[in-house]
Amino acid sequence: MCGIVGITGVDDALPYLLRGLGKLEYRGYDSAGVYVSDGFNGGYLVKEKGRVSALVKKAEAAHVHGTAGIAHTRWATHGGVSVANAHPQQSADGRFYLVHNGVIENYQELKDRYLSGVTFHSQTDTEVAVQLVDKFAKEDGLSAFDAFRKMISLLDGNSAYGFLLMDRENPDTLLAAKKKSPLLIGVSDHGNVVTSDAAAMLDVTQDFIELHDGDVAVVKPKQVEIFDAQGQAVEREPFHLDIDPTETDKGAYPYYMLKEIDEQAVVARKISQYYFDDDGRVQNISCAISDAIRAADRIYIVAAGTSFHAGLVGQRYFEKWAKIPTEVHVSSEFAYDQPMLSEHPFFIFLSQSGETADSREVLDNIKRQGYPTLTIANVVNSTLTREADFALPLLAGPEIAVASTKAYTAQVIVQAILAYSFADTDFNLKQELAKVAVEVSAITDEKETFKEIADTVLHNQRSAFYIGRGLDAAVALEAALKLKEISYVQTEGFAAGELKHGTISLIEEGTPVFALLTQSKTAGLLRGEVAQVAARGANTVIISSESLARPGDAYVLPEVDELLMPLLAVIPAQLIAYYATLDRGLDVDRPRNLAKSVTVQ
Ligand code: GLU
Repeated sequence: MCGIVGITGVDDALPYLLRGLGKLEYRGYDSAGVYVSDGFNGGYLVKEKGRVSALVKKAEAAHVHGTAGIAHTRWATHGGVSVANAHPQQSADGRFYLVHNGVIENYQELKDRYLSGVTFHSQTDTEVAVQLVDKFAKEDGLSAFDAFRKMISLLDGNSAYGFLLMDRENPDTLLAAKKKSPLLIGVSDHGNVVTSDAAAMLDVTQDFIELHDGDVAVVKPKQVEIFDAQGQAVEREPFHLDIDPTETDKGAYPYYMLKEIDEQAVVARKISQYYFDDDGRVQNISCAISDAIRAADRIYIVAAGTSFHAGLVGQRYFEKWAKIPTEVHVSSEFAYDQPMLSEHPFFIFLSQSGETADSREVLDNIKRQGYPTLTIANVVNSTLTREADFALPLLAGPEIAVASTKAYTAQVIVQAILAYSFADTDFNLKQELAKVAVEVSAITDEKETFKEIADTVLHNQRSAFYIGRGLDAAVALEAALKLKEISYVQTEGFAAGELKHGTISLIEEGTPVFALLTQSKTAGLLRGEVAQVAARGANTVIISSESLARPGDAYVLPEVDELLMPLLAVIPAQLIAYYATLDRGLDVDRPRNLAKSVTVQ
């Protein structure tokens, strides 16, 4: 959720660390901190609430310098947002410094059992971990490495951590460990790095070694040693990450979200090129995946947030084209309340980051039960893609804005192609997706229209609704999430027929109600529901498709096959959310309280 960077073996560590934190800002955080060691001369600990820019100011004023250091952006789970609770956390005697992503579930028990005499300066679970390392080093005479391992061995099974530790007595060495939270070691001839997200350190290296759950690593300026959960030394080959560092820049765009909305047409083409051959036949989906799906009597799509909404659209494709009954589940619910499964289930995990902790929990459970699993994720080499039996890439490119846009449309398209690969139909999906790409561009070219809708309809409004039926109801959920998560307009997405069963009582004079109207079978019914809310004072905004449009509709979408209309209908909703947020003077890319990849349960 939050981020970790560390570096050793460079002349001046601070600029690398601060730049790295800057690259991680998109993930969502509430405070930041850095520890830089100046060899045996000592070190500098600087922490600040709020933005990385505030930390940069403070660190520069403190003239921080040294050749190794660690840094962190925190997303508070234990203890409020304060300088004291920001990381690095230090041991009482100032010997050890620790940054931590994740949660230590049994921190209170450990604190009571081992640290009763110690004075704590924060409310974090992380401080317990660093105080334990110090205690074991001091009282048991253990090396920093052994004390670190001993502390880790005491964490209960549900704990999640990416740890990066520094010891004043070994000032150029970083000790790293991870479980359920990603951590990579980046190697180069001019210093080694540790990071929770490769994007943060691409200016140092593009060669990364992935740590596995339970690993502990010792990272020095010219040497990296990795030990697995059993304490055995292991060799792990680095992989080369082919990301153009400029892909993570926003170029001339004011916000990443707008750039990513505009990229959706290109992403649609890229996905088509990868998954279709010249004759429109599906490729790059292995026989093993096809055989496993063919053998299934039911598909379970498991996902969270926007990915869950993409799953609701994908469900229709699997039922229509693959003819396999399909259910979609929220991962945080499925993890602890598993429904009765069919005899031969097949699991699909949808995720942007591939690190979603809630989905990982389900994947762990399902693997234990021995069922086949596929992850469709944007970040290849992520935990979910590695741990599932099969993986398919989304190919959306780095998505930086917290509010997902192009990963959503990519998820819908990849599910469509996968389902279509089983279809017995004359329908030419490749051709239809080419049309989708053209029309997505046509819609994103009309930004002014959506700005005007946002400025007039949503200005000063506290609540809003998106309604639709069938596939439009699925898109309404995503449309509502987009608007509420960044503009803070409390927005409900609804299957339109449900309104009259309770929620219609919320409609007041002027309440904005957006209706998505792209499905012919239910268009008449939806018009009726729009009339019902209009009669009660709602300010209705109809977004319809060409053949279903009527005079007075606010926006008419170009027409592609009805099954693919979600790919067009979602674009106005993304742009309306964007402009409503700008109108409120808020930070579009970094909404409050949210993180880009949700790596805690
Ligand atoms: N649980 C730790 C804290 O609240 C780490 C949170 C994080 O992952 O940033 O400080």
